[in-house]
Amino acid sequence: MSTAIIEVTGLTFDYPGFRALDNVTLSMAPGTVTALVGPNGAGKTTLLRCIAALETPLSGSVRVAGLDVYESPREVHRLMGYLSDSFGLYSELTVAQGLEYAARSQGLASAAVAQAVQDTARRMGLADKLGKAASTLSRGQRQRLAIGQAIIHSPQVLLLDEPASGLDPEARSSLAHVFKALQAQGMSLLVSSHILAELDEYSTHMLALDRGRVLEHRALSPGAHVVSASGAPVERLLRLEFAQGAQAAAFWLASQPGVRVSRAESHGVEIGFTGDAQAQAALVATCVMAGHALSLIAPVTENLQQSYLKSLQAGRDANKTKEVSL
Ligand code: ATP
Repeated sequence: MSTAIIEVTGLTFDYPGFRALDNVTLSMAPGTVTALVGPNGAGKTTLLRCIAALETPLSGSVRVAGLDVYESPREVHRLMGYLSDSFGLYSELTVAQGLEYAARSQGLASAAVAQAVQDTARRMGLADKLGKAASTLSRGQRQRLAIGQAIIHSPQVLLLDEPASGLDPEARSSLAHVFKALQAQGMSLLVSSHILAELDEYSTHMLALDRGRVLEHRALSPGAHVVSASGAPVERLLRLEFAQGAQAAAFWLASQPGVRVSRAESHGVEIGFTGDAQAQAALVATCVMAGHALSLIAPVTENLQQSYLKSLQAGRDANKTKEVSL
């Protein structure tokens, strides 16, 4: 039995005459925040809509918390919050009424509604706006109300399509805090956005799509997440520096288990390392015992923008090679 919170297998989705998702397979671990990135038209919205059981794919399956979303959409909606990129609010309803409406449509027991409205308004920084009509809120406040409506039933999974679009830097930063707090409470988030710097603040994973295919899906912060959702160890990038030249050390490192030398310079070596903290400690100890004057070991950090652009380029290079060999 899979422990993934979201499991997508072989998902293919066609609009009339156009394939928007092509055999997408992915697995998201519980408690993670995944940045869903890709160029315009990559298929991000379509993927989110398929996971939310709002579209019927040509083939493939989607499971959320073990439930098939197409067989049990109602049960899945109880576990899930979804914010569409073109969300609408009832402008005449007050914040309290909008939240109450969402709570009741999610099937919350009447006795629990008032408390859920208060708690959600506080969570979203709208406690002092409960009596205000949605039409009188600023864009950032409307966005927070829409997210509040999506999370009022305390879902396990939250899907957000461009939640920060049109927000000023301060509102984006406060939204980032909200997402971090939701993750800390155990929620899993899948967030699509083009504002990579903002996603970088709170994402644990990156899922890059291009032309309906998964380019890359991996943990972002080296060291923080060393095991993938499938249980396979994730490679981390490390930089090692040596006091007396790195050439011999690079040669030695290349022969060590779990090590892939990605770059060697005069005094430093970058490696991809597949192993846990204990394996890393053993590597350091044997390196020193082998006579290499190791002066520093540190994770190589890469921001989301760099990871994304690299993955996009690699995907396009692979496509070109395929076209040439056809
Ligand atoms: P963006 O970053 O611009 O929001 P996206 O990655 O979310 O893009 P989608 O909205 O999922 O992309 O669209 C994927 C592809 O499917 C695009 O090429 C789009 O033109 C096409 N598409 C989307 N909706 C429809 C539709 N209703 N009918 C036909 N084609 C569609």
